[in-house]
Amino acid sequence: MKKALFISVIILFAFTGFSQQKYAIVIHGGAGVMSKSRMSEEIRTEYKAKLNEALTVGEKQLKEGANAVDVVVAVINVLENSPLFNAGKGAVFAHNKRNELDASIMEGSSLNAGAVAGVDDIKNPITAAREVMTNSKHVLLSGKGASEFAKKQGLEIVSNEYFYTKSRFESLERLLKKERERTKKDNMGTVGCVVLDSHGNLAAGTSTGGMTNKRYGRIGDTPIIGAGTYANNKTCAVSCTGHGEYYIRLGFARDISAMMEYKNLTVDEACREEIRKLTELKGTGGVIAIDAKGNIAMEFNTSGMFRGYIKSSGEKEIAIFK
Ligand code: ASP
Repeated sequence: MKKALFISVIILFAFTGFSQQKYAIVIHGGAGVMSKSRMSEEIRTEYKAKLNEALTVGEKQLKEGANAVDVVVAVINVLENSPLFNAGKGAVFAHNKRNELDASIMEGSSLNAGAVAGVDDIKNPITAAREVMTNSKHVLLSGKGASEFAKKQGLEIVSNEYFYTKSRFESLERLLKKERERTKKDNMGTVGCVVLDSHGNLAAGTSTGGMTNKRYGRIGDTPIIGAGTYANNKTCAVSCTGHGEYYIRLGFARDISAMMEYKNLTVDEACREEIRKLTELKGTGGVIAIDAKGNIAMEFNTSGMFRGYIKSSGEKEIAIFK
């Protein structure tokens, strides 16, 4: 009798263990200088609702067994289609009053990756990055060549005016008046997503309009695999936001993976250490990461980062400030 009970408990455990495969999503919507007193309750609610919508879209897919790459694209598409974030629709303006967008994606199981840089007419750059990864021999396509490729893959092409938003244009004008390249709050809103799917695979993606008043042709960390985005099933998936030049110089995302691989740091320890290196160089920004067990990290050295996560255990958080 005892034996039968023991066996049925084991079977029940195995069954529930199997049907509740572990998955998790972490997202960011950019890091920067944010103050509680200056951000109205209404705006906070608007940002949180959009982050929540993105997480919900991702979770639904993960529950249905979707793979990590598809989830990253679906989640980032939600944020790209919102004018709130500096990616897709809400991209910031370059010095020449046009929008140039960057995005990249990486799959942790194969180390396959794809990216687009300096594109000005692809509605969803993260989708184009995925196409580069899956349907070309290359990792990074830029400018006109990237647009032509995206068009051939059947992606939605828009005019550059599609990316116009009043608030981002006014940010550029303010900076042009001051002749400065960037104020601390004017280009916040890069978006990123890292996922552990129910098959145990990791993926990471990042999408941005870059930095307000950047030079025409400037490319940041976002489309650079190893700088703004990285994923390896052996270690973690990483997506970054911040002053891109520092992230490129540090090889930021790849360095986090390397510290886990070679120094046995946890995902949290590795992200903290990398943010320390960023701070030492006087760079600013943040990072999200997840490891193959679903441990997550959300670190930044600014006063805020739009961020959130959801786990198969039901644990969930959406936050803005430190
Ligand atoms: N990392 C982006 C870039 O430098 C900007 C950001 O994340 O705020 O293009």
